[in-house]
Parts: sequence; structure tokens; C-alpha cells
Amino acid sequence: MSDLDCDAVIVGSGPAGATAAHVLTEAGRSVIVLEKGRNHLLDLDAPFGPKGDVSNDEIKFLSRHFLGPDPLLEPRAFRRTAADGDRLMVGDVNNLPSTVGGGGFHADGKLPRFREVDFRAASELGPIEGAELVDWPFGYDELEPYYGEAERIVGVAGDADANPFASWRADPYPMPPGPDMFAAIVSSEAATKLGYHPYRAPTGVNSVEYDGRPACNNCGFCAYYGCPIEAKGDPVAPLRRALRTGRCDIRPECYVSHVELDGSGRRARGVRYLDREGVEHVVRARFVILGAGAFETPRLLLRSEIGNSSDLVGRFLMFHFQTFVVGTFPFRLHGHRGRAVTHLHDDHMIPDAESLAAAREAGLPYFRAGIVEHGAAAGPIQEAIHLPPGSLHSRLMMESTLRDRLLAFTVQGEDLPQATNRIDLDPAVCDVWGNPAGRVTYSPHRHEVVASEHYAPKLTRILEAAGAVWTTTSTSPPRPGQRADAFGLAPASRHIMGTARMGADPRTSVTDPWQRLHDVDNVMVADSSVFPTSTGYGPTLTIVALAIRAARALVDLDPLRSVRPGRA
Ligand SMILES: Cc1cc2nc3c(=O)[nH]c(=O)nc-3n(C[C@H](O)[C@H](O)[C@H](O)COP(=O)(O)OP(=O)(O)OC[C@H]3O[C@@H](n4cnc5c(N)ncnc54)[C@H](O)[C@@H]3O)c2cc1C
Ligand code: SF4
Repeated sequence: MSDLDCDAVIVGSGPAGATAAHVLTEAGRSVIVLEKGRNHLLDLDAPFGPKGDVSNDEIKFLSRHFLGPDPLLEPRAFRRTAADGDRLMVGDVNNLPSTVGGGGFHADGKLPRFREVDFRAASELGPIEGAELVDWPFGYDELEPYYGEAERIVGVAGDADANPFASWRADPYPMPPGPDMFAAIVSSEAATKLGYHPYRAPTGVNSVEYDGRPACNNCGFCAYYGCPIEAKGDPVAPLRRALRTGRCDIRPECYVSHVELDGSGRRARGVRYLDREGVEHVVRARFVILGAGAFETPRLLLRSEIGNSSDLVGRFLMFHFQTFVVGTFPFRLHGHRGRAVTHLHDDHMIPDAESLAAAREAGLPYFRAGIVEHGAAAGPIQEAIHLPPGSLHSRLMMESTLRDRLLAFTVQGEDLPQATNRIDLDPAVCDVWGNPAGRVTYSPHRHEVVASEHYAPKLTRILEAAGAVWTTTSTSPPRPGQRADAFGLAPASRHIMGTARMGADPRTSVTDPWQRLHDVDNVMVADSSVFPTSTGYGPTLTIVALAIRAARALVDLDPLRSVRPGRA
């Protein structure tokens, strides 16, 4: 094969990169996956079993950066607006794990689909001043078969009839839902009585044995932890499938520093990377696939100085605007058993007469919040560090007021795209490899704040109806004018989107509708950088569905077949 090392070099091994690796190797192509983090996910030699590195250990995962990145080695910067100066803080800004498997390794995997309206919010719901809301370049109907395939690859447990607001689907979920958490039964009953429609969350966790992996045992250490028994399928399932073909070479601790172009400037030759000893290597490939996540992909494009003729790389950064409504209960909720979140409701994403009136009062045509996750607290060490020492400590731990009697709603509120919200390269702060750190400039649109203020009291009423004796609310990021609380100044959301938006017009988007850079023919962006809007749903199932669609198109692009599907 001439001077090429593989058909495709893939940057990043999270849900996006793993999916691309699976699709391409299944189609007979060879891939090299370069991952800057360490490998704790699976043995890279046949039969590719679990490594046994995962445990229900709060200190290891939450304090010692077991899955990386260490913010001292890979700092990021944050400011609200350019008027704040170069930065307001440096450290952990929206960090997702840097490890083989990426964020999928420790996400608890609620995997809902977007709805039909989410793909055409601009034309169906209408523009909102100050936001650059656009329709996606294709609709739900085109993505539906890929959603189905994504659910089968990852292994999603769910009930197709549970959510009255869900869009149509061709097939049932591959598995029935797992057991309900007691806390979610309590909150769901109260929500139902008040007229809302809670449902069992579709989750990428086995409820029965599936794909050679066991059913979940509801150990309770789900979000922020890897699964010790591999009941979570994302992205171990696609990575293992890719490895089994014999055409996938995963290289951990390999940091891609640059994408390299050929003399024409229209094609990438491959990438340059540093191995764990700091030695530089080059991988030459027919295609370069960027699955570094919506924070690192634009950073890599910016430092490689490619793909940015529109000046839009890094812009339209979106997070979910999170509203937290927390209540304490006079009885135990058993939040330590279960998969972190077993129930959701969508009602606050559907504009109704009351929310439209509130929007008009606030000078907006409408607003939407996001899915509401019904969750409870689990970690005993997290509880212990907030309690006073001595005998009182023992008594409070026994009573467990901060953990076993606490119920929380988290709203993943839709965040509107604004060109001023962006990731760029910090002028002074560098990572351990000497490259400029990513810097976030981000302020929420009034839409997000008004939606949060409208719905938080309604969620409080659900908790009170469920029996809460005390409630509080908070948002991340803080509302304009509010001081930062425990969640800090930067958005706590780990749902990052929009920084290389896709569209048909190279003047208003970075990639085409097949996720290939407008400027460079053979570079595809596989992750949520391409999302034109954020909706109010977790992004990961849509990342996987899009990556299947885009990687399939890339296979058909192979010069041996000389087909160029749908290039706009
Ligand atoms: C606690 C938690 C719970 C979550 N729960 C949900 C949920 O319920 N539902 C949902 O939809 N989403 C959830 N998420 C978000 C989810 O994890 C992300 O949407 C998902 O991981 C994004 O996948 P990705 O492949 O695009 O990027 P990532 O998962 O971030 O993977 C990117 C990979 O690329 C690597 N990389 C980056 N730069 C380079 C480089 N230069 N060279 C080599 N490698 C590089 C990184 O190390 C990383 O491993 C959760 C996240 C967290 C933190
Ligand atoms: S709750 Fe289930 S899926 Fe989550 S880590 Fe425990 S066993 Fe794995």
C-alpha cells in the first residue's frame, strides 16, 4: 500500500472515534487510533478482555484523575467575555476523561434520541435575536436508521412507548429497561400527579446479557466511574469489534500535535504525534478522522491552521445550561443502588401556553429547557468530606442526610449558538507538550436563563409533592450577576457541542453535511463539534449515529470506488 500507514488515522478513542473505527474496519479498511490518554479500558491483545483496572473508588476517580486529564498538565482557560481580559481562571474547564474510551468510559449513558423538531428549530420554532439558530442540513428521518444502529452497537435498554414526546422509531430498543431506582419512583410518581410525563431513561447499560457482556448489577457507582463488569457498552463495544477485525491498531499515550497537509493544501497527508517518551512520529493515511471531542478538535484544527477559512472553527460553542433542583427527604431514598439516573422527563422542552406567555414577557418568542434527569446521591466519601469531625460526624453519616435522603433534578437546558461563545488558543497558558491551552469564552444567552427561571419553581413543586422538607436550586454556569457557587465559574456541563458546525455553505459552516471539512477534502470531524444546535438532550447517541453515517459515506468515497456521495 504505497507510502500509507493505514486507510484512516483517527484522533481520539471516545464514542466518536470508536464508532468510526468500528464502521471503517467492518468495511475492510485499516485504521490507527491515536489516543493521548492511558489505556484502562480493555486489553489491546486478543481476546481483548477487560483490564481489571476499574473499581468503585471515589478517590481514584474523582480526586486523582485516574482517567485523566490532570488539569495541571493539561490546563484550560476560561473567561465570560473578551472584556474580562485574557482569562478569569485556569484549570479544569469542561474536562472529559482523556483515556482509551474517552468520556464514554465513565458516563452513565442516558442515551435519548433528539426529536424531529430539534433538526429544524430555526424554521419550525423561529429565530431568536442574538442567537444564530440554524436548521440541521438533514432531518430526523435521515438519521433514524443510524440511531437504530447506534442503539444496537452500544446496547441501549429502553421502552419504546414510554416517552409520549419521542419521535417515531422503526425498531424497539435492543433490551428492555433495567430496574427502577427507588428515588426515581418517588419523584416520578409526584411528577405524574402534577401532570408531567416521566419515563424510564434509555440507557447504554445492559439490562440483560448482551453482546457477550453481563447485565448491570446496579452497583451505584456509575456516573464518573468506569464499569467494573463491562455492563456499559459505550465505547468498549465498538472498540472491541474494531480490534477483532485485526485491522485496528489503538495507540494509547500518543498525543496528536498537528494535522499535516500536502502541497495542494486541499488534502491531508496524515498527522504528527508525540509518543509517551515525547518522540515525534508521523502517520500517513488516506483519511484523517477527528474524534478528539468538541473541545480538543477545534483546538487541534486551530493549531494546525486548517479548516478555518470561515473563521468559525471554535465558535458557536454550546454547553447545556444546567439547572439543579435539590430536595432533602425525611426518609431514605437508597440512591446508592442503581445506575445514577433511571428516569427522565421531557415536558420542559415542549413550549406550552404558559411558557410562551412567560417568554413574551421576557421579550423572547419562546424558550425550551431540556431533559430533566431524576437522580440521587451515592458517594459516601463525598458525603463525609462535607460533614464536621468527631462523634457528630459518625451520627450524621449514619443518618446520611446529604446522601441517602437527597434527591436532585438536573435540567440539561438547551443552549443557543452564539458566535462570541468560542474556544480559541490561550495567548500564554500552555499544556505539558508546549502547545497553547484551549481557552473558553462563554456567556449564556438570555433564553437559557429565562427558561431556567421559569422551570426551576415547577421542579421544586414536584420535590415538595414527593415529600421534600427542604429544597434549593442552583445553575451552572451561574446566572449573570450571580457569584460562582460550588459548581464554579465555568459551565460544569460535560456536553460540549458546536465548535466546527456543519452545513452546506462553506461561508457559514466548517464541515459539509457529511462532516468533512469544507477546506480539506479528506478530513472528517466525527464528534459533536459538528452539531449546529444543542437541543436539550444528551449528545452521545447522536454523536454515534452521526459518526456511523459520516464514516459510511467516507468508505464510499474511497478512490478505489470513485464515488462521492452527497457532497454539497
Ligand atoms: C459524568 C459524565 C456523565 C455523562 N453522561 C452522559 C449521558 O448520560 N448522556 C450523554 O449523552 N452524554 C453524557 N456525558 C457526555 C459524554 O461523555 C460525551 O458526550 C462523549 O464522551 C463525547 O464523545 P467524543 O468521542 O466526542 O469525545 P470524548 O469522549 O471526549 O473523547 C475524545 C478522546 O480524544 C482524545 N484526544 C483529545 N485530543 C487528542 C489529541 N490531540 N491526541 C490524541 N487524543 C486526543 C481524548 O483524550 C479523549 O479520550 C457524560 C459525561 C460525563 C463526564
Ligand atoms: S451501575 Fe451497572 S453499569 Fe453502572 S457501573 Fe455499576 S454495574 Fe456498571
